[in-house]
Amino acid sequence: MRAREPRLNHHWSRIGPFLSELFPVIASQLGPTYTAIVLHGDAIQAALTSEENSFLSTMQHGSAMLQEQFADTNARSLPLASPGMLAPSFVFQLYHTHGLPLDFTRMIADEHGLSFDEASVAELMEQHKVVSRSGRISSSRAIESHEREARATLLSQLADARHARGTVFSGYERLEEPNASILAAVPFTEQQASDAGATHALVSISPCPFYARGGGQRGDAGWLELADADATAPVRVRVLDSWPETTGDLTFTVLKLHARADELALLCRGADGAQSVRAIVDRDVRDACSRNHTATHLLHAALRHVLATTRHATVMQAGSDVNERRLRFDFTLAPLAGSPAGPQCFAALSPAELRLTEAWVQRIIEQDLPVTTAIKDQATAIAEGACCLAGETYADQVRVVTVAGEATAAAAAAAASSMELCGGTHVRSTAALRPFLILKEARRRTRSLSHSARL
Ligand SMILES: [Zn+2]
Repeated sequence: MRAREPRLNHHWSRIGPFLSELFPVIASQLGPTYTAIVLHGDAIQAALTSEENSFLSTMQHGSAMLQEQFADTNARSLPLASPGMLAPSFVFQLYHTHGLPLDFTRMIADEHGLSFDEASVAELMEQHKVVSRSGRISSSRAIESHEREARATLLSQLADARHARGTVFSGYERLEEPNASILAAVPFTEQQASDAGATHALVSISPCPFYARGGGQRGDAGWLELADADATAPVRVRVLDSWPETTGDLTFTVLKLHARADELALLCRGADGAQSVRAIVDRDVRDACSRNHTATHLLHAALRHVLATTRHATVMQAGSDVNERRLRFDFTLAPLAGSPAGPQCFAALSPAELRLTEAWVQRIIEQDLPVTTAIKDQATAIAEGACCLAGETYADQVRVVTVAGEATAAAAAAAASSMELCGGTHVRSTAALRPFLILKEARRRTRSLSHSARL
């Protein structure tokens, strides 16, 4: 693909994908060892062609763009470092923003009597790598050196305390827990703390109304209130996040707190189960997450419904990210039983498909259907058609979240229903999701929002 043949760039528009033609040779040589290559041969060939088409499309677009820009070397819009020399920043942008390989830019520039300083472009690329790498390192180091130490200490405290059971989650039924025991608490200071005097702590309480991050849904935020004998008002500290941690056979919810050092010291003194706190979930954050989580299930159901018709394909959830501001749904497509695998499983959704999907969800919202949960035997739930995440392991008893129409309208209910194995929080009826909008679909990731109140 990285052809250096100068005249080739004139013919990008005539080149079609050809890598899939080589696939049978690869499959015959590697197939006996890597059986999945043969098993998923059709899908691999379709993906190969799709990726190749995408690369060719970038090259065709880039070729046309550069031919036009380079055609008139006197044009003021052409960024030149000196006569005949392209500005290194321009070449870097072609690579970074438009995905054009340097070889390709060099080839077309050469045909127009232009060149560029290779060393300067290489320096810009190196600088870019260092900046993006250092950003990642500094944030992960901050977690390693302080929060990870605190986490290890907290888990050993929880293990030593020999609690008979882990955290009891009470957050499906209520958002406040007046007498939660502090099981363990460990203060720590973040490496790059911005406000002097403020610090953090990891705390575990039970019973706990905070939803621990999971199933793509963010952990609850809120507050812990602690009675202080020396003060008239209780001490109130902020809960930023909550997530599950496992030690031995037990699972605990860990809360990350942010407060003044003296407030946390008071809280940590009671970290032996003897002292209790009032735990209060931030209702605004929880409600917004619940709306977006139920909307994720409906989006999933809508995509399954629409794409079965338009593409004879079925949707497989690959992940999701639900918070108080929006939802993201990641998925892959596979051919429906009896349908051949092909490009329909890889091409982006068309504007018409997105409109149909959005309209499908909006219809369910307008019908104001109830959202119900039930604990069921896993095999029964799957047999009834509940969706689950591929590759995920589930307990024998599972929680099933269902959105369904009237039982009497059997045909309509079947079309409108969503049934998923899910531990997340949800609204009680679909009218709470109004309005629902699909913002963007790219590379099998769909971003939506089910409510605009917090935007
Ligand atoms: Zn869910």
